[in-house]
Amino acid sequence: MPIYEHRCPEGHITENLYKNRPEIVSCRCGKDAKIIPSLFARTPGLFGDCSMGGVNGHYDASLGASYKNSMERDALMKAKGVVHLDDVGGDSAIDDHFNRQRAKEKESTDYMNKYNSVLKETHDPVTAMSVAQESK
Ligand SMILES: [Zn+2]
Repeated sequence: MPIYEHRCPEGHITENLYKNRPEIVSCRCGKDAKIIPSLFARTPGLFGDCSMGGVNGHYDASLGASYKNSMERDALMKAKGVVHLDDVGGDSAIDDHFNRQRAKEKESTDYMNKYNSVLKETHDPVTAMSVAQESK
């Protein structure tokens, strides 16, 4: 599944995996977020330049466009700022990406939990902050 990024008028970026290619999604702020070119695309690997997809070309859902050969595909990818998934480490690149994101979220959740629990005990935000910092 490709990752699609959407940006709302406030500049928030929403990043998610979608099977299809939603042009507009709802941002966390409630506004409409429009699709922007994403880093990853699940395009086929290199292939011969003669027979791909016949006269109409091959429709690539992750690029949202058709192409007839790998040169056209590469040009499209370049124009959209998209790289081959294989060039950035294949499937594990997506896993890594989300694992890093999850780790970051967990870190800030842990921090807030620690901060809140110390604050509850001590009623001292400065102590709570330093304890939470140390436990990072
Ligand atoms: Zn927003």
